Amino acid sequence: MAFWGDYHTHTTYSHGKGGVLDNAEVAARKGLKQIAITDHGLRHMALGIHRRELPDMIADCKAATKKTGVLVLAGIENNLNSFDGTLDAKDSDLEMLDIIQGGYHKCVFAPSLSQQFSFELRNLFSGMRSRSSQKLVAKNTDAYLKFIERYKPDFVGHLNRDIHADALTVARFAKECGTYIELNGKRMSLTDAELEKMAEEGVRFVCNSDAHSPEKVGDMGLALAAVERLHIPYELIGNWEKFPEFHSANYKRTVLDYNAATLDRSDGQADKGDADADD
Ligand SMILES: [Zn+2]
Ligand SMILES: [Zn+2]
Repeated sequence: MAFWGDYHTHTTYSHGKGGVLDNAEVAARKGLKQIAITDHGLRHMALGIHRRELPDMIADCKAATKKTGVLVLAGIENNLNSFDGTLDAKDSDLEMLDIIQGGYHKCVFAPSLSQQFSFELRNLFSGMRSRSSQKLVAKNTDAYLKFIERYKPDFVGHLNRDIHADALTVARFAKECGTYIELNGKRMSLTDAELEKMAEEGVRFVCNSDAHSPEKVGDMGLALAAVERLHIPYELIGNWEKFPEFHSANYKRTVLDYNAATLDRSDGQADKGDADADD
């Protein structure tokens, strides 16, 4: 497969159909080298992973990495939940993860009652319509920028799905900060015109499946279709025949650990091989 990684997949820790190992095994079969498990965020009203499940999810990722050789990153699909750009995870939750991503979803608890009404409810109703008031768009854009600035996410998930912000302003800022913009395989939330302009300005993308069942892992569907249709240069697709240059300390740390462990294993094998040769 020309994609080396899929950084947005779900399991039964939220409402996906398979387990962590199931996703990893499909990834291995399809030739992916890295995947991320990113179940819905902690304060989603119905689907979110629970804080008490995080240690198990992380242990499952480590075990699946060992078993399949695919680097299985532990993540969460964090929810942007206020005009202040906050996510619904605590810093101590994020510290445990291997990759940092976030985006807007409906039906999430905000950090305060006033944000529940102003950010969540206004966007819930406004997102159902084709456009929001200019004032709301400006406030949402600002929320995305604050989110990127504060958390330095590896990528922004499905920008503008069910919410209206100035996508180009967000993408430009993301580019400046080294954050990728997700092209979601299941549902495209950016217009062709926005994508073309972003590509023209050198915004970097990551294509993800958003798989909710194991067999969909690595299936970039609508994301790949958009890349082909709009002739987005493949060098802008971070996970096309290469690994993305994700910049979170979490991701870098995990990749270094993985590489060191792989090196250890192959050293061990080489030693064993030499010993065999001597016999
Ligand atoms: Zn979902
Ligand atoms: Zn998702």
